[in-house]
Amino acid sequence: MDAGAAPPAARLPGVDRVLSTPLARSLAQEHGASATTAAVRAAIDALRPAALAGELAPQALMADAVAAQAQARLAQRQAPRLKAVFNLTGTVLHTNLGRALLPDAAVQAVVQALTTPANLEYDLATGGRGDRDDLVEDLLRELTGAEAATVVNNNAAAVLLTLNALAARKEVIVSRGELVEIGGAFRIPDIMARAGTRLVEVGTTNRTHARDYEDAIGPRTALLMKVHCSNYAVTGFTKSVGEAEVAAIAHARGLPLAVDLGSGTLVDLAQWGLPHEPTVREVVAAGADLVTFSGDKLLGGPQAGLIVGRKDLIAKIKKNPLKRALRVGKLTLAALEPVLRLYLAPERLPERLTTLHLLTRPQADMQAQAQGLLAPLQAAVGAGYSVRAAPCFSQIGSGALPKGTLPSWALAVQPVNAKRGGRLLAQLEVALRALPRPVIGRIEGGALWLDLRCLQAHEAPAFAAQLALLAPREGET
Ligand SMILES: *Cc1c(COP(=O)(O)O)cnc(C)c1O
Repeated sequence: MDAGAAPPAARLPGVDRVLSTPLARSLAQEHGASATTAAVRAAIDALRPAALAGELAPQALMADAVAAQAQARLAQRQAPRLKAVFNLTGTVLHTNLGRALLPDAAVQAVVQALTTPANLEYDLATGGRGDRDDLVEDLLRELTGAEAATVVNNNAAAVLLTLNALAARKEVIVSRGELVEIGGAFRIPDIMARAGTRLVEVGTTNRTHARDYEDAIGPRTALLMKVHCSNYAVTGFTKSVGEAEVAAIAHARGLPLAVDLGSGTLVDLAQWGLPHEPTVREVVAAGADLVTFSGDKLLGGPQAGLIVGRKDLIAKIKKNPLKRALRVGKLTLAALEPVLRLYLAPERLPERLTTLHLLTRPQADMQAQAQGLLAPLQAAVGAGYSVRAAPCFSQIGSGALPKGTLPSWALAVQPVNAKRGGRLLAQLEVALRALPRPVIGRIEGGALWLDLRCLQAHEAPAFAAQLALLAPREGET
């Protein structure tokens, strides 16, 4: 090495030199001096190995170029991690994509709650302390026929709290056919254990009889519980005991019945041609003393766990210290109240409640959308793929109605070169996810399906516009 030459790293500008560029000065205005200095230092550090190796063009070593690198670092740090996506999976209530979308009325109430003080726990009549459950309890009573109601963070919390409040150190009887895993870490036996209750399993996986419940009741029994078969079906040689019958068995021994309904539909979906799902009101009327359900599944509201039922039992649940730990925040209640109020005019729900609007979209709507988007998508993906509009089936999701499928329309994208099909499909999937607003579809039968059910009319132009950004991929001609 030539000992007389300046060390190559010296060719990179110093931190102060970069900070004195007009770009760095404006970055310091926007991001603050300390973050800008750190970003400049990180940019220089990142360039150093290439500079030492003599791999950088002279322009890349100029202070302005280094400032631009710092700008990119700052921009990346500011980019939100929680991004809007296009849910074209065909699953309307997609747990990984945030489940129910809130209607406008709820959005406005949330914005107000975020920016304005409100009577969250303040009784405006007396000027004394209020109870946050009061904001929605009357509505929940009216919509379900239950005597009382309380709200917690999600349905898993509702089940945990119910079990702990009513059956800690005691036994809870559940059919073996209902010891379910809902997904994620929600398994009924695990929740029971965490709630401090002892699970007493009755019946078999496929068949449980009334006498199984009767025989299992003993001095330590605190509760009988039924869990709705949300995300699976037991078919074939099966027998389960309905809510009304289990309620009668429980009541004859002075015990309550709790039902984990999961999805919590408040109206009969059959009136809109959807499969019937038991409503909360039906389960309450059948004799359940407590019913737990989610706010962000078929109900179409924010993430929440609702518990409705007998007044004395709800009072006991509200006194449990876990209630305080699992309680909902004001944003949840702000969103939940207007959503529940929409149910006071059930016949208008398909136009007002976003979830139901998506679930009841006529197939012709999606078909027209698919035909309109066919040419722009074909142009964007290039000749390596062929795009067609095709009928398909959407699903409700979130474990609701596992067997129910909804006729829809999709854009199906298929690689022309079938031999490399798998790889090309995977590449396309990656490219769609890399768009500014990522597009999530599903791969099935050798094609990438973009189900248009959840592409709302006002979003279709934005969807079409960003297709032009799809990067050209290997395999295109
Ligand atoms: C979805 C579901 C749960 C969990 O509800 P979260 O609101 O997701 O916590 C519990 N039980 C049943 C039967 C469910 O369907």
